[in-house]
Amino acid sequence: MGTIVWQTEKIRYCEHAGCEVGLEVEAVYPPESMPDQPARLGAHRCSHAGVCALNNQASCVWAGTNPTYDPFAEK
Ligand code: SF4
Repeated sequence: MGTIVWQTEKIRYCEHAGCEVGLEVEAVYPPESMPDQPARLGAHRCSHAGVCALNNQASCVWAGTNPTYDPFAEK
């Protein structure tokens, strides 16, 4: 089993939340017995998603509560 780490890819200002947030990716690093393998990247999330979820409002794709809205998508 590898090591799972959430890494911040970008810091962006989210107008929906009114603050800067970290956009993170799940990186799975291989075990020490397989040192030549690169990390596998998986799911994405927002560092503020837990707070947005507590607002009882569907927020965005980064929180997993509204797949039709991405506040950082080009308009
Ligand atoms: S979960 Fe979505 S709406 Fe909430 S702060 Fe993050 S990017 Fe903004």
